[in-house]
Amino acid sequence: MAQSRSGDALGASYRLVELIGSGAAGEVWRATVAPDDDEVAAKLLKPEHAADPGLVERFVRERSVLVSLRHPGIVRVRDLVVEGERLAIVMDLVPGGSVGDVVAADGPLAAADALTVAAEVLDALAAAHALDVSHRDVKPDNVLLAETWRPGLTGAVRVTDFGIASVVGERDRQTTGLLGTPQYMAPELISTGRSGPAGDVYATGVMLYELLAGRTPFAGPGTDFSIAYRHVTSSPPRIDVPDDVWAAVEAMLAKDPSARPAAPVAAARLRRLTKAHAGLAALPRATAPDGFDEIERPATIVRGAAAGSVAGTGPDSPDGGAGRDDHAPRDGEAADQEARPDLGTDGSATVVRPLRRPVVAPAPVTEAPPTTRVEALLRHRPEWLTNRVAAWGAGGIVVAAALVVALVVLVPGSSAPKPDGGPGAEAARSNQQDPALPSGLGVSRTATSDPDAGTVTLTVTYSAQAAPLSGPLLEVVPGATEGDSCPPVDWRAPSGTVSGARNQPSLTGLTVACGWTLSDVEVPAGGRVEVEATVPLELTDAAALDEWLQTASTATADAVSDPAVTGTAYPVQRLVDVQVSTPSRTVSQTTLPVTLLPVWPSGPDQLNPLYASPSTGSPSTMLTDVAGGESGVRFSDGCSGALAVSSDGLVVTALSVAPQCVLRATVGNFTNLESPTFGITTRE
Ligand code: ADP
Ligand code: MG
Repeated sequence: MAQSRSGDALGASYRLVELIGSGAAGEVWRATVAPDDDEVAAKLLKPEHAADPGLVERFVRERSVLVSLRHPGIVRVRDLVVEGERLAIVMDLVPGGSVGDVVAADGPLAAADALTVAAEVLDALAAAHALDVSHRDVKPDNVLLAETWRPGLTGAVRVTDFGIASVVGERDRQTTGLLGTPQYMAPELISTGRSGPAGDVYATGVMLYELLAGRTPFAGPGTDFSIAYRHVTSSPPRIDVPDDVWAAVEAMLAKDPSARPAAPVAAARLRRLTKAHAGLAALPRATAPDGFDEIERPATIVRGAAAGSVAGTGPDSPDGGAGRDDHAPRDGEAADQEARPDLGTDGSATVVRPLRRPVVAPAPVTEAPPTTRVEALLRHRPEWLTNRVAAWGAGGIVVAAALVVALVVLVPGSSAPKPDGGPGAEAARSNQQDPALPSGLGVSRTATSDPDAGTVTLTVTYSAQAAPLSGPLLEVVPGATEGDSCPPVDWRAPSGTVSGARNQPSLTGLTVACGWTLSDVEVPAGGRVEVEATVPLELTDAAALDEWLQTASTATADAVSDPAVTGTAYPVQRLVDVQVSTPSRTVSQTTLPVTLLPVWPSGPDQLNPLYASPSTGSPSTMLTDVAGGESGVRFSDGCSGALAVSSDGLVVTALSVAPQCVLRATVGNFTNLESPTFGITTRE
């Protein structure tokens, strides 16, 4: 293909003006659009991509997805141009450079700025995830800024290169495997070649770490292979940030994708931290640590890497292509001890070239003695493990498969011999506790087996924090092992009432196996309530009970944090945040209309407000469920006396002129809520 020049036409309506950058996928040009000469950016894909016949087809197939992604935090793709040999993505021109440029030039950001940027990226991702689109290459270079960076800048983040990896990288993926940027790749992407929304949350966690510390958690000595490998095996080195900030970073960097918060949940958490750490100065730029704190390094079972033997498939794409290109692993092409996978040299560059993946041979049982850590992992996510095994069977034997293999071969050892469960067998007991949800709901579970009766007694204890909680709660009660049918459950409450009915997807909009809807559970503020169930299950040893409880907890948590679910079901468990909405302008000496909108894992819900002030009727049942009704709502003035709030905290009046006003609110356990800025003007 001929070199592109300034003045070249692109398609029928664009004209190239100036080359403004170049990256792994191709050149980026400033261009104009006829007839008004609006400015846009055009990314011209490299000739080698353009020469790939399948790419054009994928390009067109992805077009509708990319063009339909509309969010203030996403660089809008306006057009995909396929013209002769030229393929171009036409998008909004974003003039402020990238967040990657900012860190490279200035080093770490102040905590509040880093948290804000990451939260804004998560907002954009949440919108895409709700449409089943994953980004798959989140990193500071792909976070552009609408304005030149300055501390305190908000609303300028524009995430770019959404799903471009799936268009450009498919050919590499079909033949070789991975695609992405090693420093930001989620462990599951390295181990199975697949990642979805949780992989984006992980990459955003890496980016947040980098914005805080000036370096990515696993950058350091060694090749890109070492970097990729550390995602799977090492804990991120602690950085000198407050404990609550660190906990949020760690949650996003959880090795297990299902343990990570969904994007909207993570965004809400980071926003709360932003307010708490407003004055904190930036850290000095960190240097790489000498060693990494490894959580589990199955070194004995990594046989090495075979340069020519690459198994697996690419990330699951928006069009649901998970697994379609799997190749069977070629065990015979075994591993040359010296061979190192070619992961390139620059850990921050997007890999759109073949990325060779090491093959790992399964280890004999005796080489992998169980450690408590391994057992904990095993118990933690049985279905996570099952997914890995499925992926492995389908062809993804790679670095982390070593870990999985170790776990899998441990199963018989750790669960056998099984007590026979006959008369006289001892009762076993197991406990489990969930982290508290944003509404303040805490859940802990105890399972006690009665081997004589062949039943398990499940006790679920619900607790509340600042606000009383009530209303329908979802609880998954799985069978003894995966694939078993859902057991019948007999629910009761030792004190008070509860009624349990099977979750009805047609009513709740939420589909989950073995889900129960518990009604009439009322948890007082700061208090707790127990619900009990008898389940006919032959689970007789503590390890089996542990695993069963963990499955119940995980399945429940996954169901209520599913971003694909819309609607208002299970508000106490699904509400991740509350948005305070006001008109952007109001007149002094009038009542300020305010709406409180629920934010679900799928995003803010304009259609089903929690509360409107001034109130026009009885409060919504959702408000009663999450905050005990109107008494759980309190507005307060956020602009130095320009707003007056009635003594019950529920009616807001604009008093005096103020160009930049905010309204603060508390709703149940959601404190420090704030409206976007609005203006108060005089009457015309
Ligand atoms: P790649 O992802 O293919 O490696 P990039 O997306 O990083 O390439 O783009 C290369 C350069 O072009 C970067 O310097 C980036 O800041 C710039 N750029 C990319 N997209 C835009 C845009 N929409 N507006 C302005 N500059 C852009
Ligand atoms: Mg890019």
